[in-house]
Amino acid sequence: MLPKFFNTLTRTKEEFKPLEDNHVRMYTCGPTVYDFAHIGNFRTFLFEDLLRRYLKFKGYKVTQVMNLTDIDDKTIKSAMAKKIPLGEFTAFYKRAFFEDIDKLGIERAEYYPEATAHIPEMVAMIKQLHEKAYAYVIDGNYYYSIAKFPEYGKLAHLDIAGLKAGVRIAADEYEKESVSDFALWKAWDENDGDIYWETEIGKGRPGWHIECSAMSMKYLGETFDIHTGGVDNMFPHHENEIAQSEGANGKKFVNFWLHSEHLLVDGIKMSKRYNNYYTLRDILDKGYAAVAVRYILMATNYRQQLNFTFDGLVSARNGLERYNDFYANLKDYSGGQTSGEGKSIIERMLKGFEDALDDDLNISPALGEVFDFIRDINRLKAEGLLSREERDSALNAMERVDSVLGFLIKKKAEIDADIENLIKERTEAKKRRDFAAADGIRRKLLDMGIILEDTASGTKWKRKL
Ligand code: AMP
Ligand code: ZN
Repeated sequence: MLPKFFNTLTRTKEEFKPLEDNHVRMYTCGPTVYDFAHIGNFRTFLFEDLLRRYLKFKGYKVTQVMNLTDIDDKTIKSAMAKKIPLGEFTAFYKRAFFEDIDKLGIERAEYYPEATAHIPEMVAMIKQLHEKAYAYVIDGNYYYSIAKFPEYGKLAHLDIAGLKAGVRIAADEYEKESVSDFALWKAWDENDGDIYWETEIGKGRPGWHIECSAMSMKYLGETFDIHTGGVDNMFPHHENEIAQSEGANGKKFVNFWLHSEHLLVDGIKMSKRYNNYYTLRDILDKGYAAVAVRYILMATNYRQQLNFTFDGLVSARNGLERYNDFYANLKDYSGGQTSGEGKSIIERMLKGFEDALDDDLNISPALGEVFDFIRDINRLKAEGLLSREERDSALNAMERVDSVLGFLIKKKAEIDADIENLIKERTEAKKRRDFAAADGIRRKLLDMGIILEDTASGTKWKRKL
C-alpha cells in the first residue's frame, strides 16, 4: 500500500509516490551551527529520521540532503562576539551536531552540504533571478521582489493582495506580519567584519533562504519529492525557497512539504530565544540515556505539539525497558510447544504497524501494536506455547520494526568484551568466596551503567536506561 502524508501545500493527506520509481529524494533543513542544538531541534530531526527509515522499510531507496547553515545572521554575530574566525567557530558546532545525532541513533543522510562551500551555486541562482527580473539591487544588496511571483504565499496560505510593493526586509528570520521583499545577497558592511566573499555580484554574503534553493537543486535536481522542517520554517524560509527555486527554474520545486510541530516547555515553544531549552548534553548529564530522548521525541505523532517533561522521560524509559527486556529474554528462550497462535500474533502486529505508519506516520497506534505483541508473545511463552520457529519469527519481526524505531540498544563488541571479562572475574571471585572483590566488580559495572542479574544459567547483564 502507498503511504499517505499530510502535504502542507494542499493541507490534505495525499498518497505518496516518488517521481522516480522506488527512489525518494528528500531535503531536510538542517541546523544553524552557532550553538548546540536543543532537543526541540532534535524532535524535528527525529521526525525526519522516522520518515527516512520508514520509506526504507517500505522498500524505497532514499537520497536525503541536510544542509548545515554555517553562515547567516546568527553564526556571524556569535563568531564575532567570541572573536573566533567563523569557520573555526562553526566547525566546533558541526562536530557537536554529528556527535549528538549519533547518540540519538539518527541515521546519516547521504549529503550534508555546508552553505559556505556553495557560494558559487548561490551566486549563479541570484544572477539568474536578477536576469529574470525576480531580483533587484539596492546599494549592492539583492532582494527578491515577491510581487513578481504571483504564487507567493501558497505554502503558508498568506493573502498578499494589497501588500505594498517594494517593502524590504534584510533579516534572515522575520514574522508573518513582516511579509515583504527579502534579501538574497547582503553587501558587506562593517557588522560583517572580515566575513565576506568577493563574487561576480559584489563583495558580501548570501541571505539564509538562498542556500537551501541552491543546494537542493545541486544534489536533488530542480524538482524533487519531499521537503521537510519544523513548522516555524514554513514561513518565511520555505515560502522564500519556493519563490526562489520556481522563479529561477520555472518548474515545480517540491511535491510534498511535511512540517513537524514544536516541542514545548510549559506550553511555550522550546527555543533559545525564550531560554527554556535543554540540549541533549543537559539531559545526558542528568543520567538519562539518549535512546530515552529518542523515544519520547518520536513517540508522539509529528503533527501534534509535544510538551516536554522529565516525568515523560521516565515513562519513556519504562517503555524502552519493556521493549529491550522482551527482545533480550526472547533471544534466551529456547522454545516450547506451539498452539499455532504465534504466527497470527506476529502477522497482526506487522500489519497494524505498517497500516498506522502508512497513515501519515501515525506512531502512537504503531507503538500500541508493538506493545500488544510483546504482551501476547510473553503470554504464549509463559504458557510454554511458543515454538522455536515462532520465537525466531518474533525476533525477526522485532528487528524489522526496530529498523524504523531504532529503540533496541545495540551492544558494541569491544565494550561488551570488557564487560564479559569483568563478569568472569566476578564469577571466579565468588567461587573463591571472595565476596568483597565480587561486590567491588558489581559496583564498578554499575558505575559503567551495567546491571547484573544472577540466573540459573549464569550471570546476565543489561544497560541501565
Ligand atoms: P535551526 O537550527 O534554528 O535552523 O532549527 C533546526 C530545525 O529545528 C528547524 O527545522 C526548526 O524548524 C526546528 N525547530 C526549532 N525549534 C523547534 C522546537 N521547539 N520543536 C521542534 N522543532 C524545532
Ligand atoms: Zn532550509
